[in-house]
Amino acid sequence: MTGVPGVDPVVVVGAGHAGFHVALFLRDEGFEAPIVLVDGLGGSPVQRPPLSKAMLLGDTEPRLEFRKPEFYPARDITLLHDTVTRIDRDRRLVRLGSGKALGYRELVLATGCRARETTVPGSGRTGIHVLRTPDDARAIRDALDRAGDVVVAGGGFIGLEVAAAARHRDCAVTVVESLPQVMRRVVSADVSDHFHALHEARGVRVLTGTTVQAFDGDVRVREVVLSDGTRLRADVVVLGIGVDPDVGLARECGLAVSDGVEVDTMLRTSDPSISAIGDCASFPTGDGGRRRLESVQNATDQARVAAARIAGRTTAFDAVPWFWTEQFSAKLQIAGLLPDRRTETETVRVGEDEGAFSVLHFHRERLMAVESVNRPVDHVAARRLLAKGGPLRPDDARIPRFRLSDAAAIQTG
Ligand code: NAP
Repeated sequence: MTGVPGVDPVVVVGAGHAGFHVALFLRDEGFEAPIVLVDGLGGSPVQRPPLSKAMLLGDTEPRLEFRKPEFYPARDITLLHDTVTRIDRDRRLVRLGSGKALGYRELVLATGCRARETTVPGSGRTGIHVLRTPDDARAIRDALDRAGDVVVAGGGFIGLEVAAAARHRDCAVTVVESLPQVMRRVVSADVSDHFHALHEARGVRVLTGTTVQAFDGDVRVREVVLSDGTRLRADVVVLGIGVDPDVGLARECGLAVSDGVEVDTMLRTSDPSISAIGDCASFPTGDGGRRRLESVQNATDQARVAAARIAGRTTAFDAVPWFWTEQFSAKLQIAGLLPDRRTETETVRVGEDEGAFSVLHFHRERLMAVESVNRPVDHVAARRLLAKGGPLRPDDARIPRFRLSDAAAIQTG
């Protein structure tokens, strides 16, 4: 079988946020050709944000499905529970785990990331969990209900959201983070300190600058051994030690891959009939660099751009990124991208309340990013300002009674 452009379907690999939305947006664009959404997980495609929040905090399950199963036939989207094992670019087809082949007119890689697992001694013992799928979340929730001592390896979004849920379920919790500060890959030092203090105030023990060296026990894990020799009792361990982009298919078929599948501003890979979107895609930043973002918003925005292009409408990807996390009483929302640590920046903190404040990040007198803790109005204003290129100077933000929403109203009308 050989793919026939114009007759064959658009094939989407992966039905996470990026994959599901590209199929949905193609139909919203009025695109009429067949669409096949290939996904290895059974059932209707699901969203992931509730897995580390509502799913672990509550006793009843939140709704995870993007849409009910009848949505797919109603919108003429074929949901294929199978795995793409190989891409044959010359013949424009994909090989499937079931042994079949599927031709494509356009291929969209929305393969996302894979949870990093650990190879430290003892990592095969039971009681050690990762969190990627609804079944993982169910297993962790059940395990937390039976556990006394819980160790969370990794103090990123997953680790801290799981730690908050484990405290909520009355476990004694220790978070072990290898970096000197929690969530430091994605938030500023100021915000990291705030969340560190919040977790400690709620009874979580937070150990930074140390890593897991081994898991001790019998069949089950009983203790976690740290790089400084500390031994922590553990009935349950949850690993939140990061993810790696799933680039295997792309690499194997010869597409350009670095930290993710390389795409242009239109989200085309080095083969123009193949796009990559979401967590697996590395896109140009405009300053000669590249960036890959792990966020639901980025997946959805890139899906919108790729769908419009495939449907024949040209638009480039330039959305303002944003992220959020909820831990205990704190909701953190981040608009824009924090400049990397080598970039010279100026920060201004606004808000008197210890539990509700925003940190504004400037580079060369322009607003680059805003982190808001329990200040949703600031977050909305920040997104409006950043969409206009960040027209705000640090000195303006320092004047007494400065309000980001006023600045956004003036600058954006
Ligand atoms: P993450 O943000 O990369 O955080 C993992 C942290 O664990 C890193 O700081 C890492 O430090 C540290 N670490 C790695 N190995 C370790 C070890 N052996 N012992 C102790 N610490 C170790 O990743 P994540 O929290 O696992 O999240 C995974 C993905 O889910 C990300 O894409 C994240 O954005 C997404 N997610 C997002 C949300 C949200 O947006 N609210 C919620 C949940 C999950 P090094 O950098 O030194 O490796």
